[in-house]
Amino acid sequence: MIHMHLLQSPVHKAWGRRRHKKPTVFWLDDLGLVAEDCAYGHAIHVTEPEIALMGRRRVTVTSHPSCNFHMRNGITPVMPLRAVGVNVAMGLDDKTINDDEDAVMELRMMHKVHRLDTYELTNPPLGAYEALEMATVNGAKAAGFAGRTGALLPGMKADAILVDLDRVARDPWIDPKFDIADAFVERAMGSDVATVVVGGKVVIEDRRPLTIDVDGLYREIRAFCAKGLTPEQRARADLLARVKPHAQTWYAGWHDGLVDRPFYRVNSRG
Ligand SMILES: [Zn+2]
Repeated sequence: MIHMHLLQSPVHKAWGRRRHKKPTVFWLDDLGLVAEDCAYGHAIHVTEPEIALMGRRRVTVTSHPSCNFHMRNGITPVMPLRAVGVNVAMGLDDKTINDDEDAVMELRMMHKVHRLDTYELTNPPLGAYEALEMATVNGAKAAGFAGRTGALLPGMKADAILVDLDRVARDPWIDPKFDIADAFVERAMGSDVATVVVGGKVVIEDRRPLTIDVDGLYREIRAFCAKGLTPEQRARADLLARVKPHAQTWYAGWHDGLVDRPFYRVNSRG
């Protein structure tokens, strides 16, 4: 698989047009980089013609919803991408909703954000099973493991999690006949994952990692961080801080007129 970030910000969209005189995905296509073995991170500022091409080529897009909010980049048009056959998977990007890499909570963020693609209530929203599919089968394909992981089937690697649903089902208003996919996507957290099996090997049991010493690792990281930045890193950070206002002035207004027709219309002024 070839992984790259794509059109994460509106300035990226503007830059592509100025530099290549065409939308960025068409320029990538000239280079042979719009294909089934290509996975694009973010892909927020893609246009309808670019999405149509991405669907024909069966590319993969990873969407990182919390990161996209945190970085003030926008919302990946996940529903239009899925509608044309793009393989959409979930990414974390080290900027999850709780800043703790909780993939289960991030899955919930993905599930919620993309319920808002339309106010047309007759259109079915993104379902829990579809969200699970993004996190499993589609994620395996994004990582280049299609047919090997992402599902529990004969011949595939035994990658699985066991989730303790006691906390999820604790509240008295939960129907005891709940659908477990709905319950997992709506209510579970990473800390409810009791057991993790990778390639048939148990690596977490009763919430305890068996293959790494987490406390020892954290001690090591804390000691490293306590040393602070090296003079070279400090100088680089200072340089970035000095350059930042000039970069912002340089790019001001580049995206004017390029973000006026959003895929998801979430409110209105008039
Ligand atoms: Zn990213």
